[in-house]
Amino acid sequence: MTDLPADLPTDLPTDLPTEADVVICGGGPIGASTAHFLARTAPQLRVVVIDDAPADDTSHVTTYRYSGGSVRWTWSDPVKREMTAETADLVRSLLADGVDLAAIENSYHLLHTGEHIPALNISAAKLVAHLLEQARGAGVQVYSDTVVDGVRPEGSGHLVETSRGTIRAARVLVALGAANKRLFPHGGVDLEKRQLFVLDAPVPPEREGMPHTIVPVGDGFGYVFVKSVEGRLRVLVGQEDIVEDDDTSGAVDYWATLLDRGLATALPWLREAKTEQILWGVDIAQKKLVLDEPEPGLLVAGCGSAVRSSAWLGRTLAERLSEPLAG
Ligand SMILES: Cc1cc2nc3c(=O)[nH]c(=O)nc-3n(C[C@H](O)[C@H](O)[C@H](O)COP(=O)(O)OP(=O)(O)OC[C@H]3O[C@@H](n4cnc5c(N)ncnc54)[C@H](O)[C@@H]3O)c2cc1C
Repeated sequence: MTDLPADLPTDLPTDLPTEADVVICGGGPIGASTAHFLARTAPQLRVVVIDDAPADDTSHVTTYRYSGGSVRWTWSDPVKREMTAETADLVRSLLADGVDLAAIENSYHLLHTGEHIPALNISAAKLVAHLLEQARGAGVQVYSDTVVDGVRPEGSGHLVETSRGTIRAARVLVALGAANKRLFPHGGVDLEKRQLFVLDAPVPPEREGMPHTIVPVGDGFGYVFVKSVEGRLRVLVGQEDIVEDDDTSGAVDYWATLLDRGLATALPWLREAKTEQILWGVDIAQKKLVLDEPEPGLLVAGCGSAVRSSAWLGRTLAERLSEPLAG
């Protein structure tokens, strides 16, 4: 697995409060970033983050812990462009402040068009850990190892039911990634599968600055990039649009499929590479903010590129959650 966070701090709060102004369910890129912006812009609010790190299940992984962590990208859509640019600025300011995000700056190379686009690749786990740490330092209460079991309306607010008890809040943000679907099955997000291959091919010096390469593969595309995995630079290969949701063939078959469908022709040196790890990821297909408000004061948020867009998502949701309550 890539970039798993270091051990949790030992001074975590243990007793869940019974009330808060805002409860954030999920401490991934969306939840952590929203907590970060709420702490900055609405310090008067009592904010609680509830997060659970599920046990690893290599056949089905869903959270930011497995993200490729690429931030910089070019979008023709101005909203997506703005979302990306804001996170790139945040990441750069953190790097300038000496925050370690294991960032690699190089470029995207679109093999089929020949274009080179500036790129920024980070550890999503380190970004999330930093945002949560910063929020915690500003008074946000973060409960890790706590499962959200459900959210139901109560009076003018909501009750969030967790493995540590129940907490009442005026406003609730549900940001559980692909797991939103379990709590709110009608929330309107489509899920998609992706695979990420960590190659048993240590990175030679001349490839350290390798562009993040986008390669047409079959009807979709694959991406090949260099990333720091557990402190070592590795070559990673990801794919989109190859895996059907109901496809049950073995993971290694997909490596062969990727090579056969164009990867080996475009990048012949990959033929010799062995896959060291194969990570299965489930993500939200929509790359923009998907926001549902099933009841007033209850927001369910998702985004398929939430690492890349985390600053925009966090700022936007923090503004929404700190608007004065009607009545
Ligand atoms: C292989 C792969 C590569 C990717 N590469 C990129 C990339 O390069 N750039 C990019 O921007 N995006 C990438 N993504 C997408 C990105 O990882 C997701 O968009 C992002 O993680 C979604 O963020 P989130 O905060 O909505 O949810 P998540 O990251 O899923 O975070 C949700 C949090 O809630 C917790 N949680 C879940 N259920 C519960 C519960 N019941 N109770 C308590 N806590 C719970 C989870 O453990 C997690 O901590 C990639 C995804 C995959 C699968």
